[in-house]
Amino acid sequence: MRKAFLKIVLLSSIGISIIFFQTITVSAALITDVRFWSAPDHTRVVLDLTESIQYGSYTQENPPEYHLELKGVTLFTKKREVKVNDLYLSKISLTALGKDKVKLILHQKRPLNANLLILKPYLDKPHRLVIDLVDVAQERKEQEERQREKEIRPKGTKIVVVDPGHGGEDPGAIGLRKTMEKDIVLKVGEKLVHLLNQNKEFQAFLTRKGDYFIRLEDRVKMAREYKADLFISLHSDGSFNPQARGSSVYCLSLSGATDEAAKILADKENMSNVLGGALPTPTSIAKDPNLNKILLDLMQNNSMKESFRFSELFLEDLKAVNHLKYPSYRQANFIVLKAPDIPSVLLETAFITNKEDERLLNQNGFQEKFANALITSIKKYFKR
Ligand SMILES: [Zn+2]
Repeated sequence: MRKAFLKIVLLSSIGISIIFFQTITVSAALITDVRFWSAPDHTRVVLDLTESIQYGSYTQENPPEYHLELKGVTLFTKKREVKVNDLYLSKISLTALGKDKVKLILHQKRPLNANLLILKPYLDKPHRLVIDLVDVAQERKEQEERQREKEIRPKGTKIVVVDPGHGGEDPGAIGLRKTMEKDIVLKVGEKLVHLLNQNKEFQAFLTRKGDYFIRLEDRVKMAREYKADLFISLHSDGSFNPQARGSSVYCLSLSGATDEAAKILADKENMSNVLGGALPTPTSIAKDPNLNKILLDLMQNNSMKESFRFSELFLEDLKAVNHLKYPSYRQANFIVLKAPDIPSVLLETAFITNKEDERLLNQNGFQEKFANALITSIKKYFKR
């Protein structure tokens, strides 16, 4: 109640009618926005709320619809119907039922499994109600396709999995000109995969092909399904200090970070799951019955050594592309670098919060130069 009240007072102070203020404060929670994100195997619908609410849900089979009845809530967003028209949903509709009840209907194109998730406020994000409508068959099909890739390639082909960080609800760092990390790293990733695939000896894949969120653990899982020979997670740095700039390279550490800055960065990148909205179903490789602990440690050690070797090669080639934040790679506990059997690196392409770096990150030429420097290093790395 208090939060809703504060919000309305703020709006009325900037000119919104006081009558509006009076009618709205009767409700406990407000729905302030509705968004959706389309992924290859699911559609995510997100409701922004000023407070947590009660709800009831059910699935209708014919036509296939997902219904959600929200109690103690008022529609504050002007959106009543949102056209989706992706693979899975045609539209989202919101209807006020009486004074403090709202019905949300997700109009599906086919039967789907629904997963609900409630997220508490975090940073600038309000209470969120997340509904994932998942095509389980498609999810399985994609997983099987990834598992087959290594077998259908000519022997000796090196598989590189490129991971554009963040996506969907999690924009990553945001620049002064509102450039979003999630968009830039997707563009760099697409260029890298496209250019790598022009070389017969490589086959490259993206973990994320659009603007949607993937859990950090699932990015690792995908790389393992591909049986990747190298995993590259792409990011762009952000800082409150607008002077901070340059590119940097990170590897995993199992025993604490090399320095405080690397630890802070890893904590920030690991928060992606909270911002993006991850379902709390951990995928722990340690529980894989096919792997024993000693073998796992040996693999992890070897993968880390190889990650260091790749990082050193790349830092040499990166020098020609952008100013280096550090002359050497740094280490910290990044969740996304935890595949025990795949050399994995996390690259901060540049600082999106620095005026000059943001300008560079938006340039096609810079994105290509970055991707080409990576290809040079990847070729050297596998030549040994
Ligand atoms: Zn990032």
